[in-house]
Amino acid sequence: MNTLNQKSAVSVALALGSNIGDAEQIFLQAQKLLTARGFAIEKYASIIKTAPVNCPAGTPDFANSALTGTFCGTPEELLQITQSIEVQLGRSADHGFHTPRTLDIDVIIFGNTVMDSPRLTLPHPRAKERLFVLEPLKEIAAEWIFPDTGESVSEVFRRIRPASLHYAVASGR
Ligand code: AMP
Repeated sequence: MNTLNQKSAVSVALALGSNIGDAEQIFLQAQKLLTARGFAIEKYASIIKTAPVNCPAGTPDFANSALTGTFCGTPEELLQITQSIEVQLGRSADHGFHTPRTLDIDVIIFGNTVMDSPRLTLPHPRAKERLFVLEPLKEIAAEWIFPDTGESVSEVFRRIRPASLHYAVASGR
């Protein structure tokens, strides 16, 4: 039964990245932990391998993926969950910017929310510049709209995609 206090489910897109360890296993663990914390996963994208961008020489290649689902809580509650899962799966809580990590989870789209606070910017501020975010997301959420600009995921992907992609799809499912 619906009550006025009941929170409604919001459609959310998350991006996953890893460049230490077995990304497939790490992403599967992340899915289980997200589900256990109330994030209802609907779709999961293929994993792609990508070359590091703006990282020190010697940084291992990244594996990237994305998932969509619904969440009945606030954006801040979801960020707290994703950050605790990153730490639970081996990422040090005081990691440096662009350092290798077992798991990075970014909140890309949270329904129609557009916000900019010290801890959380939505949609994710750099998602529209990152092929490694857009490529997996396009596979599962091509028609989703970035609520700040009104562009769809596939529109942004087509706009920023270079003539030849420099990375290859590593595995599909
Ligand atoms: P990173 O090292 O890429 O995981 O960056 C995490 C930092 O970005 C944290 O301090 C978050 O509070 C902040 N942040 C801001 N907006 C977002 C977002 N949409 N998703 C995830 N982290 C975010």
